[in-house]
Amino acid sequence: MAARAELLADILIVGGGSRALLVLERLAAAAATRPNWTLRVVIADPGPLGPGVHDIDQPPYLIFNSPNSCPTMFVDRRVSRLDSAIPGKSFKEWLDTGEGDRTQDFQSRAVAGRYLSWAARHLITNLPPNLQVEHLRRTVVAATSSSSGRLNFEAEGPVYIRPRAAVLAVGHSVLDASEEFAGLPTASPQAEIIARPFPLRTQLANVGEGQVIAVRGLGLTALDVLAELTIGRGGRFESHTAGLRYVPSGREPSIYLYSRSSCPIRARPEGSFGGSSPFVPTILTAKRAADLLRDDQPVEFRTQVFPLILAEMALRLLRGHPDGSVPDPLATVGRWFDEGGARRSNAEVCGFFQLPHVQDALLALLRPVLCDGVPGTRVLAMKFLRDDIRDSQRGLAGSPLKYAIEALIDARVFVKQVIDFRHDRLIDPQFAYRTFSSLVNRNTIGPQPRKSEEFLALLECGLAEIAPGGSSVTVQRGELLLTGPGLPEGTAVDRLICADHLNLARPEQAAFIRSLLSAGLALPVRGDDQMLIGLKVDRHMRLVPSNPKAGFPIWAIGPICDGSAYYNNYLPCIQPDAEFPYFEADRIARSLCKTLGMSPNGGRP
Ligand SMILES: Cc1cc2nc3c(=O)[nH]c(=O)nc-3n(C[C@H](O)[C@H](O)[C@H](O)COP(=O)(O)OP(=O)(O)OC[C@H]3O[C@@H](n4cnc5c(N)ncnc54)[C@H](O)[C@@H]3O)c2cc1C
Repeated sequence: MAARAELLADILIVGGGSRALLVLERLAAAAATRPNWTLRVVIADPGPLGPGVHDIDQPPYLIFNSPNSCPTMFVDRRVSRLDSAIPGKSFKEWLDTGEGDRTQDFQSRAVAGRYLSWAARHLITNLPPNLQVEHLRRTVVAATSSSSGRLNFEAEGPVYIRPRAAVLAVGHSVLDASEEFAGLPTASPQAEIIARPFPLRTQLANVGEGQVIAVRGLGLTALDVLAELTIGRGGRFESHTAGLRYVPSGREPSIYLYSRSSCPIRARPEGSFGGSSPFVPTILTAKRAADLLRDDQPVEFRTQVFPLILAEMALRLLRGHPDGSVPDPLATVGRWFDEGGARRSNAEVCGFFQLPHVQDALLALLRPVLCDGVPGTRVLAMKFLRDDIRDSQRGLAGSPLKYAIEALIDARVFVKQVIDFRHDRLIDPQFAYRTFSSLVNRNTIGPQPRKSEEFLALLECGLAEIAPGGSSVTVQRGELLLTGPGLPEGTAVDRLICADHLNLARPEQAAFIRSLLSAGLALPVRGDDQMLIGLKVDRHMRLVPSNPKAGFPIWAIGPICDGSAYYNNYLPCIQPDAEFPYFEADRIARSLCKTLGMSPNGGRP
């Protein structure tokens, strides 16, 4: 597109990834029923439309975690209650036309990106004639509103966009991770802090053979970093009867990984459908959710919601041991259930599941802390990985532990019911959106077992080490020093790679979010440490402004709504209980049409 100083539009969509496509698809469905209206949409994204975070050029060893049967960008016949204007292929149907690697159960993320790219082209080619779309290949860096309430956006260039309404679909681009290290200069280019590891190829290009690297975080991003620094450096894994063995290329660095617990994340159970079992709740029922919300009282997640989730988990664990062979204190929990515990009130269930010996026993399964010097922690981590891989291979039906832990992910409908859009009544957003969500992530949003086997092989060959739980890297006199319980005094490292959160914003993207806040167009959800968790939205996914009477026509969807629309860090997916993104996009389209004065069937309001 030729650079232009000013663009007028009915709707500006900031970000052109999968969530933006969903909104566009819903707008197409709305436009098809309003033939007398013409809707002009500008989508701003410096990258191509569709892939978003799933770059089509990334290396093939970065694997897309969801099963092929799950994602679709077209609701057509797949999501009940939503009619589609534009039929299109699901990811699986698209793969069946010869795309991707059909021998693989799990595709690479590059292939997922190619599907999204295809979906964007298919969508735009088939839009109804009264919906016009322009792709502005630029980053939006600022937003303001005039005294008359008119929205103004500035994109790099600069290009000024004056839409009647806007939708934010900026993905994980909320927080600039490098802000944490601002003002902490390192002494030399060798002692570098890599606050944003993506895109891995370019961000890790300077990590050289023989260097000592510290990776903060042991989640999915850390596994990506490991893949880049091993397979990406020419190493390979060989299958042997005893398991995988890593054959180094000699171009790898030495890698220390650490986190608060230094415990690896759990792998997904084999054969699980995309992330969840069919869920029939015993404790997390709609009735209990209604009881919790009765009288619109404030809700404390830690004491009123989390214990109910632990109760659901404990019950599953006990059902997996019908012969009663469970150790105390779970046997005590079993007796409590036998005496009618599941029928007691929310307060009584929560009271019991907050008893320290009960809660600690369950938390020990979810949050083991590995801390025994470097060699000891490595042995503990390898045992954890072996046990977990074995449980994963048994699947949900064969492993009572995996089935019990799956309660965390199955709890999402209940959790959404009780905390979404209740910003002012949720007492402890830090616990709900950080502590609890990190427990969910580390226990249920893990890699496929093969990735855990690769991690195990890297630990076995000594190329990767695990520093004990509670370790940290600090900048001292310009040097990066890894310190922790049982570590030799101040172990020097050449690079620190921050792989512990998904806030991937480049500085200009973070500046855009800050400008929304400073212009009063949005309100933040913050953690106890004041770090931004997300932006507040109401039930229509509309941003809550700092002045509640102002009501700016700006909507948001996707990870930026974390803290509001809980639990949405996946590609739109037709798995039961995970279809929220389609309905969120639909609510946005309906609310937008109403605000812009577009009534159905072409009639003027
Ligand atoms: C590393 C990684 C791996 C993942 N793996 C999986 C997986 O295996 N399976 C799964 O289901 N989910 C996975 N997810 C989650 C899932 O991909 C995301 O939740 C999903 O992509 C969100 O879609 P989105 O459209 O909201 O955001 P994105 O896909 O991130 O797209 C956002 C777009 O907004 C643009 N943008 C941001 N700020 C601006 C701005 N100021 N101006 C203009 N454009 C802007 C960006 O360039 C980007 O193209 C992964 C996420 C990450 C980060």
